[in-house]
Amino acid sequence: MLTESEALTRLLSHIQRGQAGPLPLLQALGHYAAADLAATLALPRFHNSMMDGYALRADDSTDPNRPLPIIGTQPAGADQHLTCPPRAAVRIFTGAPMPRGADAVIMQEDVVREGDAIRCQEPVSVGEHVRRAGADLCPGQIMLRQGAKITAGAVGLLASQGLREVPVIRPPRVAVLSTGDELVPPGQPLEDGQIYNSNGPMLQALLVKLGIPESSTRHSHDAVDATTRALRELSHQHDIILISGGVSVGDHDPIKPALAQLGISPELWRVKVKPGKPFLFAQTQRPEDGRPVSFFGLPGNPVSAYVTFQLFVRPALLRWMGASDISLPSLLAHPATPLTNEGDRPHYLRGNLRDGVFFPAALQQSHALYALSQSHALLKLEPGQQITPDQQARVLTLD
Ligand code: AMP
Ligand code: MG
Repeated sequence: MLTESEALTRLLSHIQRGQAGPLPLLQALGHYAAADLAATLALPRFHNSMMDGYALRADDSTDPNRPLPIIGTQPAGADQHLTCPPRAAVRIFTGAPMPRGADAVIMQEDVVREGDAIRCQEPVSVGEHVRRAGADLCPGQIMLRQGAKITAGAVGLLASQGLREVPVIRPPRVAVLSTGDELVPPGQPLEDGQIYNSNGPMLQALLVKLGIPESSTRHSHDAVDATTRALRELSHQHDIILISGGVSVGDHDPIKPALAQLGISPELWRVKVKPGKPFLFAQTQRPEDGRPVSFFGLPGNPVSAYVTFQLFVRPALLRWMGASDISLPSLLAHPATPLTNEGDRPHYLRGNLRDGVFFPAALQQSHALYALSQSHALLKLEPGQQITPDQQARVLTLD
């Protein structure tokens, strides 16, 4: 059986970055930059006022008794190209271009206004209340690195450069195949022995959160021929197929025999991790275009499906989408109670983080979907490892 890191390294070696293409800024939110993007405009674009007040020379602000005549007004907007001579002031507003000659802005609260003149009550220093051109970003500077996530802040930044589109890596076309004779889609009545298919919607939800809003779903019964047909049909139009259930060695587990019928042998099967041992990865080339189709076989138990998605599918999808950082965010935390792993596989405990303390969920079994739904962190315990509340362990945070 492979270790988690061996399995991840092996499957990532089969995942290529997808193709780049431009997307309108808003649609690009959550995608990853396909190239380094350099700024063309300085930020701020020009020297401008940080305050509503008066632009002047700082030297002229030191004498509270000297009136400074107001020689003009510069609101935000069209630059009137005013020049502020010595011993004078220009009325100015936030965001307005600085008049030539002025090197500071005094806030309107710090002057006494007398008709068309002001007297400065607080001296200002050179540069005070002035936003200098290029202080934040210079033309030519890389503003977004290849592989950086397009966040709301990045959308704002790109818009500030006048851009309407950004080159990103197009996400893969993903299908979710739920296997199991017991499964019924939500919304339909249940017969005895049946359960609702919860993995399908859960995996689709995880895809949405990763920036893949559209994915197709399909259900197949636990029959090898039906599963083979489903896999064959899905592989025509998808790059990645997430299979839930049927990946163990039970008499009713159709995934391995179905892949075998298609002539596909798994790159890896079974990983030393709990939950999630039966995890499978396989790849084939689509005959039509020679492009790779990847199959991820996730265990049917909902918690196992969720955890193996986070450990193996998430990094693979992020690698495809060109993300430079494919690891889950993590931090160090103290367990709220002593924790032990008496098993022979690393165990990812589900739980919550509050103020640097990890509280394990009450039920740590792989079918415990409610306990999972209440959790947003995973604490990894190595086999035989024991940690007490005075010790710290690395905790992966899930969004
Ligand atoms: P399997 O991996 O197919 O042996 O399934 C393991 C367990 O997960 C069984 O209890 C199944 O009923 C359950 N299960 C499998 N697929 C799903 C699904 N899509 N939604 C909810 N539970 C599932
Ligand atoms: Mg099953």
